[in-house]
Amino acid sequence: MRVPLIAGNWKMNTNSIEALQLIMKMKSLLEPIAGVEKVICPPFISLEKVKDALGDSTIKIGAQNLFYEEKGAFTGEISPLMLRDLCEYVILGHSERRQYFHETNEIVNKKVKAALKVGLKPILCVGENIAEYEAGKTEEVVETQLEASLKDVNIANSIVIAYEPIWAIGTGKAATGDRANYVIGLIRKILADLSNDSISQIVRIVYGGSITADNIKEFISQPEIDGGLVGGASLKADQFVSIVKQTIQVKNS
Ligand code: PEP
Repeated sequence: MRVPLIAGNWKMNTNSIEALQLIMKMKSLLEPIAGVEKVICPPFISLEKVKDALGDSTIKIGAQNLFYEEKGAFTGEISPLMLRDLCEYVILGHSERRQYFHETNEIVNKKVKAALKVGLKPILCVGENIAEYEAGKTEEVVETQLEASLKDVNIANSIVIAYEPIWAIGTGKAATGDRANYVIGLIRKILADLSNDSISQIVRIVYGGSITADNIKEFISQPEIDGGLVGGASLKADQFVSIVKQTIQVKNS
């Protein structure tokens, strides 16, 4: 049984006061919900405040990125060693990083290895753009991304894969549940080829792309989909809490 996971990616939103207000709104509502892993990924500057506010809560923290070197002359970067005491997860290879910061699969691969080396769990994002989708190249694209990003990586249950079709991120145009389930099934087969069947069955693969409290059921009711990576809707406490609640209701039914 794979434990469902819902992660909220706050992206470059909230200053440290707003982050604290938002986590305090969510904390008491999320705390009692068991059976689903709840992860919040605030901006770097708020990680420590959010961690302090959460105390020994069951809500986990993730970073949105890291640099693969441990320390040195890399102005403006944040290393895995700086993050490991602040969070458990780290989002890697998000399409916004690939698009705006020119992150290649090779860079993502270095980041995945650097994260695992210090015990951080990567949430590795893969997904096709609209042109690739329309050309029927989704499988080819995610296979290339997975093979290259996971090169020489021991795939185990400490890695979460997020299937995020780029055309669905922040657009309000989510994929259908069937389509996301189909692609995530393909991803599971690719993972089996890269490791073995039993490992591919324990790795959690979540969907991301315009998830809301209104459409989460469509995704979470699919057998291959183990949860969600939520952007916009994770900035609204009531929406995010509802997404988490519905996830466990559906998975328990
Ligand atoms: C994301 O940031 O990974 C994401 C899926 O964003 P949104 O939910 O806003 O589409």
